[in-house]
Amino acid sequence: MTFDADPPKPHHRAHGFQNNYTEFKTKSLAELLRWRRQAASAGLPKPPLVPTPRVSPDLEWLRANAAAGAQMAPAVNWIGHATVLAQLGGLTLLTDPMFSQRASPLQFIGPKRHVPPGIALQDLPHIDLVLVSHNHYDHLDAGSVAALNRQPGGPPLFVVPLGLAAWMAAHGIANAVELDWWDRHPIPTSQGEVEVTLVPAQHWSSRSPRDALATLWGGFAVLAPDCHLFFAGDTGYSRDFGDIRRRFEGRQHAAQGGGFDIALIPIGAYAPRWFMREQHVDVEEALKIHADLGAKRALGVHWGTFELTDESLDEPPRRLAALRSERGMADDAFFVLPIGGTRTIARREGA
Ligand code: ZN
Ligand code: ZN
Repeated sequence: MTFDADPPKPHHRAHGFQNNYTEFKTKSLAELLRWRRQAASAGLPKPPLVPTPRVSPDLEWLRANAAAGAQMAPAVNWIGHATVLAQLGGLTLLTDPMFSQRASPLQFIGPKRHVPPGIALQDLPHIDLVLVSHNHYDHLDAGSVAALNRQPGGPPLFVVPLGLAAWMAAHGIANAVELDWWDRHPIPTSQGEVEVTLVPAQHWSSRSPRDALATLWGGFAVLAPDCHLFFAGDTGYSRDFGDIRRRFEGRQHAAQGGGFDIALIPIGAYAPRWFMREQHVDVEEALKIHADLGAKRALGVHWGTFELTDESLDEPPRRLAALRSERGMADDAFFVLPIGGTRTIARREGA
């Protein structure tokens, strides 16, 4: 892929992309081995003290809400890891759909799920929109997107970062829109219009040994009349989140309903910090993102499902609860859900 557009964008490079505030370099084999050796000798990750909480999903309610059009109640359901079913603006969408047993190119090796998806693929309501943040295996799963593409009633619209439309096409998915950072895609709905914007995140991409940084990564801002949703994808902490707040602040004044009504922010895959800091926030940094965005509420995702790093599967929500009480934050300002759990979001006022 070549980019000779004028003026050049700083995150576009000759062979792919870069972050805004740090020059990401893939870790060396020596660093990878050092991490694995240290983890093995310390016996990390320790097994969780409690299993990831699960509830059976209220499928009837979600299906009725999906069909409610203008009367839809904004809501989020945590399916597991970074997969959230969100209903807003008359649309039912999925973030980073991952329903497979392993986050890996091969289904017999690689990180295995500890908890089944909160909603099975075949039980989903009709999905209108799929947002893919980047191509790591725990976020872009070939089996899951292919199944969604075949759903009864026709494929959803897939919105992906630059470079991934070709991957989608190679997997038989024609209904994909590719966005650069800050590109917007409007979707007409029963409530008027929902606007999807790809926003920067500090991360990287790769699906094979030689394609690091070749396709873009990012997060999403989804602005609907009844709800403004933010999805971070995978990210380290950076000034990007202040930039995102400034970018949308003209449409998020108090009289227009204020900041993002719900932000989906990763709280897991952070240890050890020397290896993960650039690419994954820890819980404290997730709280900073929430504050930088000026979001009203946040849901912690990207934990409890796949064991990817050194912290225990159940550590992120414990740290979140401790930090919240230390700071006197309300429980629902930054909350977690059980897998399969639904939370309704107050409709935007004044919008
Ligand atoms: Zn990732
Ligand atoms: Zn991830």
